Amino acid sequence: MFCQHFVLEENMLEVDCPCVTPEAVLKASGHVDKFTDLMVKDEKTGTCYRADHLLKDFCNEKIQKDLSISAEKAAELKHVLAMLDDLSAEELGAKIKEYGITAPDTKNPLSDPYPFNLMFQTSIGPSGLSPGYMRPETAQGIFVNFKDLYYYNGNKLPFAAAQIGQAFRNEISPRQGLLRVREFTLAEIEHFVDPEYKSHPKYSEVADLEFLMFPREQQISAQSAKKIQLGEAVSKGIVNNETLGYFIGRVYLFLTRLGIDKDRLRFRQHLANEMAHYAADCWDAEIESSYGWIECVGIADRSAYDLHAHTEKSGVPLVAHEKFSEPKEVEKLVIAPVKKELGLAFKGNQKKVVEALEAMNEKEALDMKASLETKGVVEFYVCTLGENVSIKKNMVSISKEKKKEHQRTFTPSVIEPSFGIGRIIYCLYEHSFLHEAQ
Ligand code: AMP
Repeated sequence: MFCQHFVLEENMLEVDCPCVTPEAVLKASGHVDKFTDLMVKDEKTGTCYRADHLLKDFCNEKIQKDLSISAEKAAELKHVLAMLDDLSAEELGAKIKEYGITAPDTKNPLSDPYPFNLMFQTSIGPSGLSPGYMRPETAQGIFVNFKDLYYYNGNKLPFAAAQIGQAFRNEISPRQGLLRVREFTLAEIEHFVDPEYKSHPKYSEVADLEFLMFPREQQISAQSAKKIQLGEAVSKGIVNNETLGYFIGRVYLFLTRLGIDKDRLRFRQHLANEMAHYAADCWDAEIESSYGWIECVGIADRSAYDLHAHTEKSGVPLVAHEKFSEPKEVEKLVIAPVKKELGLAFKGNQKKVVEALEAMNEKEALDMKASLETKGVVEFYVCTLGENVSIKKNMVSISKEKKKEHQRTFTPSVIEPSFGIGRIIYCLYEHSFLHEAQ
């Protein structure tokens, strides 16, 4: 059904990439530094808990079971629940202290929340010198193969590639039965699009759909999800762009055609802090089950910066081209590494430093230029080396020059619907069968 509805109907490419992923790829994507959940420890036994889960359980229990709490307090706890995914480590820690929350099993005090990386680490090959990770998402396999996929698509945008496979996340406290597990089947689509043309040719086919949507504003003001026409949500800017809207509509059709009850399906927009480190706008298709509302499909507009980082750091250029009918005069940033000086300073690492300098985006390059002019030296992180190097004024020249261009080179944006297959099937069973007491 997934292949029929998306891969075949939308003429997508399909790939099957390895699960073990070299560190450079996940460092470039930001997962090594930022793919974390906040954890607290029982200060005496060392048992770990997810900080937001403890706060959520506390608020739910108070609201549902404590008849003595005032209406004001109940409203406050409801607001905390609505904002839960938006809280920083400090804010979560402060709430846990304020409410006197302790370890559920022992009632011991808890540590302050701290980030825990969810990836399973391994090493590739017998030397133990090449770190790798079990992939936390399938998307990276598509990004590192972008060049070939773009070529198969005739070097044209937009196009999409899909992948179905296992993903691995070292969840702090797996719970909710089959819904939060450490190994699960993920189906992901990466739809690559020119950031300047985010319209979609088939958008009109979904624009009239009307279904439950839960925009950021409604969540913050403690309202509930309401029926909105998709076209209206896009035209009012509630949904960031047409292509993102198109995929939200297609996901709605997919889930309801599978048999998910449309009255127990809503599209919830991520709050600002909740958004993954790579996303510009993100909506979750949430399905109501006996465990509450469950995120089953995430639909993210991954920002172009994330993909640019791949170009720079994993050595795989993620760039597309638009040929002009006539050459255009443009002001271009020119980064010219002085190879002789870099060779003297970095010897065998010279090539990696040169590549990283050439891959800087405009802002990074201009910041470096300004720092070199004032201080004469800057610290510069080279991902392929995994360390900072000192760049001096005589090692690189950065300037702006007028040039005639025959094509535009840019990093595409990508819209990414990401389906948790196990969760969808679980919810489908709940929506399709009735349980009769004997
Ligand atoms: P994310 O990249 O976090 O948006 O996850 C994509 C999808 O994977 C989610 O919408 C879920 O359906 C599914 N998912 C994420 N984490 C788990 C997990 N621990 N167990 C099962 N499914 C998961």
